[in-house]
Amino acid sequence: MTALRDIVEEDAPSFSFEFFPPKTDAAARTLWHTIRRVETLAPAFVSVTYGAGGSSRDRTVEVTKRIAAETTLRPVAHLTAVGHSVAELRHIIGQYADAGVRDVLAVRGDPPGDPGAPWIPHPDGFTHAHQLVRLVKESGAFSVGVAAFPERHPRSPDWDSDIRHFVAKCRAGADYAITQMFFHVEDYLRLRDKAAAAGCTTPIIPEIMPATDVRQIGRFAALSGAAFPEHLAHRLEAARHDPAQGHRIGVEYATAMAQRLLAEGAPGLHYITLNRSTATLEIHRNLHTPASPAVPGTIGEPHGLAAPR
Ligand code: FAD
Repeated sequence: MTALRDIVEEDAPSFSFEFFPPKTDAAARTLWHTIRRVETLAPAFVSVTYGAGGSSRDRTVEVTKRIAAETTLRPVAHLTAVGHSVAELRHIIGQYADAGVRDVLAVRGDPPGDPGAPWIPHPDGFTHAHQLVRLVKESGAFSVGVAAFPERHPRSPDWDSDIRHFVAKCRAGADYAITQMFFHVEDYLRLRDKAAAAGCTTPIIPEIMPATDVRQIGRFAALSGAAFPEHLAHRLEAARHDPAQGHRIGVEYATAMAQRLLAEGAPGLHYITLNRSTATLEIHRNLHTPASPAVPGTIGEPHGLAAPR
């Protein structure tokens, strides 16, 4: 299997999609409808997030294994150190290896229930992501991704320590990084330049989150700490009772961000789908046909995005 880093470093930017494990049968049907639509685009990979505990985690493993077994997609399994001993982590990694899944996004995770609460490691577990990166790398022929933070990690006291620790986890064996969601292109460029200045050559893929509803903004801030542009917030507020207009505004903003990121040399785009395909596929189509409006039912070219004209 081609290493994911080689795919990410190809000339044509990669594109990929993120899902989360569904909680109900209805949610699972929505997800699988989205997965089948995404499959027609032949993305570089799709990723499945890892929840805070119990059944959600089992569902991550199930969905990831099913994607590997039943689709042509390449699944990347998110994995966190939250509440796991090293032995448990080894067991999960082993399950992926048995299922032919060779891609893991190794993130530390946050305390369940309150991302801002003090981090308490499992007594037989890990404190930071670089340890999980090493464990996955030692466990077999895995490609490993890590998290990157365009507005620096909320717990980092300053940029110097943030970049130092980011570079350390890349040197622990990360093949690529994917960013937290963000809404200002300059934040991505600053992170990329700081990492490069520190001698880090790991490709950093920006994450694209279409914001189509003003009610999402508070949740984004709580989840990621991402600063939301005031002008975009005002436009979404004006469209509070007009979902179609909110959708258009969010897709237009995310498309413009994606175009600029590619023009600035980003190695790819990782779309947050929220398990639905509409907004992300519109952005994807817009990047292929920037001069014309999105045409429902059409799809972009497979295996990488054309650079924006
Ligand atoms: P780390 O790299 O360990 O960093 C955490 C903090 O510790 C940072 O401030 C860092 O600078 C600092 N630090 C790192 N190393 C050291 C060191 N040696 N000494 C002192 N300080 C250090 N969470 C989930 O629960 N499930 C998911 O599926 C998930 N997927 C994600 C996907 C992406 C693309 C991103 C960007 C985040 C995701 N997260 C997920 C969230 C992530 O778990 C949290 O943001 C977490 O707080 C940080 O994870 P990390 O891997 O960056 O941790």
